[in-house]
Amino acid sequence: MEDVVLLKGREQFVRQKGERHQTLPISCGAESVAGCVSQRACVYCGARVVLNPVADALHLVHGPIGCASYTWDIRGSLNSGKSLYREGFSTDLREKDIIFGGETKLAAALDELIPKYQPPVVFVYSTCVVGIIGDDLDAVCKAAAEKYGVPVLPVQSSGFVGTKSIGYQTACDVLFKLIEPPTTKLLLRRRPVINYLGDFNLAGEAWIIRSYLKKIGIDVNVVFTGDSRYEEIRRAANAELNIIQCAGSMFYLAQKLEEAYHIPFMQVSFLGVEDTADSLRKIARFTNDPGIIRRTEEVIAAELRRVMPDISGYRTALSGKKAAVYVGGGFKAISLIRQFREIGMEVVMVGTQTGRREDYEIIGDIANDGTIILDDANPAELERFMLTQGADLLVGGVKERPLAYKLGIAFVDHNHDRKHPLAGFEGAVNFAHEVYTTICSPVWNAVKGGVVRGDL
Ligand code: SF4
Repeated sequence: MEDVVLLKGREQFVRQKGERHQTLPISCGAESVAGCVSQRACVYCGARVVLNPVADALHLVHGPIGCASYTWDIRGSLNSGKSLYREGFSTDLREKDIIFGGETKLAAALDELIPKYQPPVVFVYSTCVVGIIGDDLDAVCKAAAEKYGVPVLPVQSSGFVGTKSIGYQTACDVLFKLIEPPTTKLLLRRRPVINYLGDFNLAGEAWIIRSYLKKIGIDVNVVFTGDSRYEEIRRAANAELNIIQCAGSMFYLAQKLEEAYHIPFMQVSFLGVEDTADSLRKIARFTNDPGIIRRTEEVIAAELRRVMPDISGYRTALSGKKAAVYVGGGFKAISLIRQFREIGMEVVMVGTQTGRREDYEIIGDIANDGTIILDDANPAELERFMLTQGADLLVGGVKERPLAYKLGIAFVDHNHDRKHPLAGFEGAVNFAHEVYTTICSPVWNAVKGGVVRGDL
């Protein structure tokens, strides 16, 4: 890392693990350095990620049409019922609206959309320009809610007011407003009931986890917010436990539910064989039910018998290869370090958009010496560190894919626009298969021959 020059102001956000290297804690959770083209998304995007999988809601973006391009097509969450969330609605603010105000246009949009689609709930997202011109979103939403008798909730998510994490919190506050006090008498239930937080049901992953839990005797009350509906969210307080997959987006809501309704929470990960088995065991132990604990071991043993021959085969082919990781949340990064070890690979660079201090402490503990750890990276940093660390593969999202390909490095999409599940035992096999097929593709022989790397 000594040879790499960082932009001024970025020094505290990049570390290299190892005795000879810096050991100071990494900075995180701060606003991006001004003028630096960060890979991180904006506040609005953070709010949209969390709320968009509410499948029967009407999602209206109050702003220019460009912000609304961030919709179902690139969020990918699957659902099993009504699918209004797949429609993209925007007030399409133009120059005239910015000069004279957009409130009239917003009210007109709600007047058109609510009678036509009759949604049980409406989310109205504010964007940068709305924050600048000062439209009174609260007042317009309140008037529409009274007029039509449905909740019309303002999502105050002007992109420039903070980090993507602020968008997550804003969305959690909106969800919390929908949740009603518990009504079910928990003691009368025959099976434990839990909420699953921070799974977006990409390629049906929440369904996979729900099926494991069902087999071991636990019911899922609501998934926040993969394949969820307004009525389910209202009942969320009727659960004995909240499990959190994506801590970056849902830790805050879990804390609020614990404070308000005394529902305990635990962090889990269903990425990789080891983390999936450990998480199921943690949930089973919480129930303190010998039958559930026994069935959990049976499910894990059966799944391991099924998937380990495939995983071992990929491990043989991939041993010694090096991976770079740049993902949204810290807990996913931690899981990926473990998951790459399962398939014989070393992670040489790991970064996140919204990792928390606790996440970076764990990453610092489990990463190998020499690993580059970075928060809120920019393309120049990712490029340099992938090359200096000799990465064979980058795991990231839609914004990182072209960067990897231009460098002649294999790529695996671990974000919202992929089409196959990567969670659970079957997801672990899919992941290993995808890593194998991309790293071992003959195309890299041609590219690494000099076309791209030779020009750098
Ligand atoms: S809210 Fe602002 S930063 Fe976010 S997409 Fe829209 S214009 Fe861009």
